[in-house]
Amino acid sequence: MKFATRLIHAGMEPDPSTGAIIPPIYQTSTFVQAAPGNHKGYEYARSQNPTRTALEKALASIENARHALSFSSGVAASDAVIRLLVPGDEVIAANDMYGGTFRLFSKIFEKAGIHFHYVNMQNPENMSPFISSKTKMIWTETPTNPLMNIVDLAAVAAIAKEKKLLFCVDNTFASPCLQNPLDLGADIVIHSATKYLGGHSDVIHGCVMLNDTDLRDQLYFIQKSCGAVPGPQDCFLVLRGIKTLQVRMERHCQNGEKIARYLRKHPKVARVYWCGFEDHPGYAVAKKQMSGFGGMLSFELKNDSPEETKRVLSSTKLFSLAESLGGVESLMSHPASMTHASIPREERMKNGLSDGLIRLSVGIEDGGDLVEDLQEAIG
Ligand SMILES: *Cc1c(COP(=O)(O)O)cnc(C)c1O
Repeated sequence: MKFATRLIHAGMEPDPSTGAIIPPIYQTSTFVQAAPGNHKGYEYARSQNPTRTALEKALASIENARHALSFSSGVAASDAVIRLLVPGDEVIAANDMYGGTFRLFSKIFEKAGIHFHYVNMQNPENMSPFISSKTKMIWTETPTNPLMNIVDLAAVAAIAKEKKLLFCVDNTFASPCLQNPLDLGADIVIHSATKYLGGHSDVIHGCVMLNDTDLRDQLYFIQKSCGAVPGPQDCFLVLRGIKTLQVRMERHCQNGEKIARYLRKHPKVARVYWCGFEDHPGYAVAKKQMSGFGGMLSFELKNDSPEETKRVLSSTKLFSLAESLGGVESLMSHPASMTHASIPREERMKNGLSDGLIRLSVGIEDGGDLVEDLQEAIG
């Protein structure tokens, strides 16, 4: 079955008791047993819930994975994956990634004795000096947030395989519609389903997809022991969201391209970060591993004074100033003070994340209206 069909049909079976075409929201904490141990696969809703099961089947299918586990947030999914490790283990992580992931690694797991090396993975060879017998995992995002750098997933997977390291990819930005890291050799994929999978800015949710059954069992054990499970209503919302992922993503890509090209020609714009430009350093790799360039882009104004940056950020009418991304409505954000404020300024500047950078999550409104909105705000 093709992707667009799986989005709609994977994991969907008429509800056995009523024939409901959509899995009901099983708003229950526990399940009655006929006799001790005599149950229908559901005992207690931290361990299993039928709405969650339906969602997990769909999530596995759309990422070409054997298994999926669904969590109460994207960071809860990342947290569970790092809990596979033990004190003394080391992780090589991309130096340009979601601020909340950096915070989880540096402020929570460093204290638990897990050590992270942050490396520019645009050249996978940069990892070599940091790989030792203590290294257990490689962690990356691509395109990266917010600079839209591209990491060659097949090249990193080859190194991971050779060195016997787990390779985890945060695929939130591309979504399974544009990129499938497991097919390129990754072992684990995580998503913040809060973003493109949910797609409507109405739910916080995360998930892990993978093929290895032993790893899946370990993650399930972590999930039910630590308890970061989503409620059935949230599972329902994500399940409903993913049905339109393909059609939404087509428009996100179209609008993203339109705005990237518009901004690049704008006399007041200094630089646009979008991986679909032919002269973007990651263009060839992006073209190879993605089926579209998505709706995320960032830019800097020529006049990048705090006043002018703030003025533009507060002047749009359709682009709302807000954290998050991947919803049907367009959002604008200021990474330095919002999503990436937890990264020390020095570290940010080293990686090219300037104080004047503005990030756009381009929605699925009319592209012309969005251009007009930017035109009026930038002047
Ligand atoms: C938002 C985000 C996360 C965290 O997900 P939550 O659902 O907010 O917990 C992780 N990675 C990326 C790339 C994100 O954009």
